Amino acid sequence: MNESKVIRKCIACNSLKPRNELIKITKHFRTKEIVVDPSSDITGRSCYICRDFSCIETAFKKGRIFKILKISVNDELKEKIRAVLEN
Ligand SMILES: [Zn+2]
Repeated sequence: MNESKVIRKCIACNSLKPRNELIKITKHFRTKEIVVDPSSDITGRSCYICRDFSCIETAFKKGRIFKILKISVNDELKEKIRAVLEN
């Protein structure tokens, strides 16, 4: 399967983009650890956000990302995602 052809939706702006243009955030199904942009596929609840600071802000506004991943509010997570973008 060609990874670049996989289309996913950004949870902030709802636009559909190829998987590799989005940041994936996964909650590991067993450890409940939140993994930002896993290089390997981890099984668990996942969401996608554009590689864009405004989409990251939107995803965190009103705790949207926490509701989607079913996790408690985690301010460090936003910094982790921003760090991925800055790399
Ligand atoms: Zn977006």
